[in-house]
Amino acid sequence: MLYQSFLIKYAEIGTKGKNRFLFEDALISRICHALKQVDGKFDVSKESGRIYVTACGEYDYDDTVEALKKVFGIAWICPMFQTEDRDYDHLKQYVCCYLHQVYPDRNRTFKVEARRADKRYPVPSEQMNRDLGEVILDTFPEMRVDVHHPDVLLRVEVRAAVVNLYSEMIAGPGGMPVGTNGKALLLLSGGIDSPVAGYMVAKRGVRIDAVYFHAPPYTSERARQKVVDLAKLVSRYAGPIDLHVVNFTEIQMHIYETCPHEELTIIMRRYMMRIAQRIAEETGSMALITGESIGQVASQTVQSLAVTNEVCTMPVFRPVIAFDKQEIVDISEKIGTYETSILPYEDCCTIFVAKHPVTKPSLKVIRRSEEKLAGTIEEMVETAVAGREVVRCG
Ligand code: ATP
Ligand code: MG
Repeated sequence: MLYQSFLIKYAEIGTKGKNRFLFEDALISRICHALKQVDGKFDVSKESGRIYVTACGEYDYDDTVEALKKVFGIAWICPMFQTEDRDYDHLKQYVCCYLHQVYPDRNRTFKVEARRADKRYPVPSEQMNRDLGEVILDTFPEMRVDVHHPDVLLRVEVRAAVVNLYSEMIAGPGGMPVGTNGKALLLLSGGIDSPVAGYMVAKRGVRIDAVYFHAPPYTSERARQKVVDLAKLVSRYAGPIDLHVVNFTEIQMHIYETCPHEELTIIMRRYMMRIAQRIAEETGSMALITGESIGQVASQTVQSLAVTNEVCTMPVFRPVIAFDKQEIVDISEKIGTYETSILPYEDCCTIFVAKHPVTKPSLKVIRRSEEKLAGTIEEMVETAVAGREVVRCG
């Protein structure tokens, strides 16, 4: 195997000043975690502003790249040839050998971009560019130089202890390493939007846990399993997720029997938020996340969102708030949650929906309806919170 190692380039975390090492260490830890799923042993190290992943012996290249593509904080994955042999004549041979193996079809244009990170190296970069270009043209007459838009941009880095050659750059997911930005609790339903919302917030470095409200026997075991599966899919990016499964049946029935039907959804959503906030406080999350998007359904008009939000003192992150459905679908396809999200199992939000739900709820009216729940609902909430089941996903 030509590629025994990878140069990992990161974007934003490079700008974190004095705290940079914390971000780098978090990224290394996330990379190590991701590579545990891959066949092979790896050494992950950092060296002045860059991270190297080196395979120790045999490893699965495709699986390694796939795993790295899911680590937030990585901007580029550059498979590279690395050697400790810095002899200049040997370097010319390595360059030809590299092109020979990586580009069997050599009818291409190229450019060499040499960098001498170790200024004690006897050959300046400009001269390396010229010499190596010449050797390539001599060895592969089909290749031509194009300094503006080369098909192959071959980077040659001479460092204190090694020489790196690379030309391929595979896009990473961007963002920041999970674990660098606190924890938030995702309200995860079986739909398309909430897994995407969780992915987006985790991408900013936030660890996530999730809560799912189910209503057996109105919602089935299969619906619950679908949410567990979604949490696992999101955890491929976000790392392990504790999924809190809350039995919502009693609360939902009580609301159904006590409140005007057109207000059911909004009142139910307020109870979901209240319970989520309780669980967040107990488990160290500092914010809630939902997959709400303005105007998507009656409970997501600006008025409804305002009334729902009113019960929360924690920040509520709604990363897809201004996205069109198709834009959310595009992300869910990209991250691999779409196929699971569209499985047709019932959702507890849709079981008791009214034919004509309010789209412009008044907070005063909703509060008055909720007063009728008082005296009984508090204990139901306690029971639901205390009786929740926690499923570790990922
Ligand atoms: P999604 O596609 O995420 O299910 P949706 O378009 O179906 O969203 P709603 O059902 O109104 O929208 O839910 C809005 C948000 O409330 C969801 O994105 C999710 O964050 C949360 N939510 C809804 N139902 C549940 C549930 N049963 N358990 C946990 N969270 C829920
Ligand atoms: Mg839903």
